[in-house]
Amino acid sequence: MKKPHHILIAGAGLVGSLLALMLGQRGYRVTVLEKREDMRRKSLSAGRSINLALAERGINALRRAGLMEEVEKLLIPMKGRVLHGVDSELLFSPYGQRPHEVIYSVSRGELNQLMMTAAETHFDVDILFNQSIETVDFDQKKVSIKDHLADKTTQLEFELVIGADGVGSEVRKAIMKATGGNFQIDMLGHDYKELCIPPGSEIATRWQMEKEALHIWPRGGYMLIALPNLDGSFTVTLFLPRKGDPSFELIDEPHELNDFFDRQFPDAKALIPNFQEEYFGNPIGQLGTVRCDRWVYNDSAFILGDASHGIVPFHGQGMNAGFEDCSELIRLLDEHADDWSTVLPIFEEIRMPNANAIADMALENYVTMRDSVNDEKFKLKKEIGFELERMFPDRFIPRYSMVMFHRYPYADAFSRGQIQDDILNDLANGIESASEFDRQRGKELVESRLQEIAQPA
Ligand SMILES: Cc1cc2nc3c(=O)[nH]c(=O)nc-3n(C[C@H](O)[C@H](O)[C@H](O)COP(=O)(O)OP(=O)(O)OC[C@H]3O[C@@H](n4cnc5c(N)ncnc54)[C@H](O)[C@@H]3O)c2cc1C
Repeated sequence: MKKPHHILIAGAGLVGSLLALMLGQRGYRVTVLEKREDMRRKSLSAGRSINLALAERGINALRRAGLMEEVEKLLIPMKGRVLHGVDSELLFSPYGQRPHEVIYSVSRGELNQLMMTAAETHFDVDILFNQSIETVDFDQKKVSIKDHLADKTTQLEFELVIGADGVGSEVRKAIMKATGGNFQIDMLGHDYKELCIPPGSEIATRWQMEKEALHIWPRGGYMLIALPNLDGSFTVTLFLPRKGDPSFELIDEPHELNDFFDRQFPDAKALIPNFQEEYFGNPIGQLGTVRCDRWVYNDSAFILGDASHGIVPFHGQGMNAGFEDCSELIRLLDEHADDWSTVLPIFEEIRMPNANAIADMALENYVTMRDSVNDEKFKLKKEIGFELERMFPDRFIPRYSMVMFHRYPYADAFSRGQIQDDILNDLANGIESASEFDRQRGKELVESRLQEIAQPA
């Protein structure tokens, strides 16, 4: 395919904005069509969660786009989990074991705005708001666009259209139809609702809980979490089954809500002054996993980000994976001199197994966060895992660290993680403290079962 003169992107969310910037930096003329209003002009919630966890894969992509200096001003490091017991007892559990092994809380809206402004200000990128792509016609190479303000539909020709239009992607629908590909979305059956712990009134206690941590109230079948914001507040998210006991369906009266929070989250309740209003006023969000087996249609269209691999949020990787899509695409364009006909099939081939792997790990991590973190065997295995990492830093890296602090392909993290888990089960068997584990056996198992791995360039 000749290098396209003009690229159309559907969606100016996190992934569409970063991709527009990166393609603008390569000299492409880019038009982005965004269904919603410009969040920089109106005080809009940026959609779903108010803040997100940013980790190495996302940071690497932002670095490539030259944005990290600006983004750093928006970040709060989170060094580990603070676990809140039902008796309000606190327990800190670090994410990694080296000083840089932290993840960062960032405001979704601020990050999105920064990327949009960087793309529009310095490059040949236009973002048109209140414009939805409704259909894609590959025969005529035209999209139909609904202008929500003028309430009219127009047609626009395209050379290459990219779907960064999220879980409900229209570009994906067109690709599925044209290729006969398979698509499924598996709903989780657990929903979420956001609440807010406001900043404290005193400067010294502006953050009313430990600032540099992700707070979790793990309760077995469900959980509450909280991430810090720069203004001193925390965004709190309740994850609960849709039906059953307890569930969003059952907790629908003020006294039920009060009882539930008094029993399960008394310390959080004390910090959320308007918790009744927020609980009953805020929407319930749904969670699901998007899987489809075709991401590309010839050299006319492809999808990335949540459009191709929306995942549940429990590994904090949806945005990070979408940003990694962008940096991988740019790496392939570099390698293949912007020959899109060559790049797109390779992109699909490389990224799809990795997307499937992080989708599975994200589902597993829900159980880890809401349940296993309290389990003694889990804690023991984690400690042994850290020790094995110290002993064999090129062979044994805890799976959480491979996903969050490194850029090994997700599929490798998944498969090595299974081997590592077997090793940890073996070494943790019959002991109570990490200091007791058999180091010689650990050495034999690691050296025989795990090859050395090198960090991707
Ligand atoms: C509760 C929750 C917490 C999360 N926490 C984390 C986290 O900690 N870390 C992390 O990495 N990820 C997290 N995620 C995942 C993350 O939000 C997504 O992976 C990320 O937003 C995907 O970006 P995207 O641009 O692909 O899609 P979206 O953010 O959905 O953006 C799509 C954009 O396309 C627009 N659009 C849709 N249809 C059309 C159309 N037809 N025409 C034009 N425009 C259209 C939408 O308005 C939107 O702006 C979380 C998700 C949830 C729900």
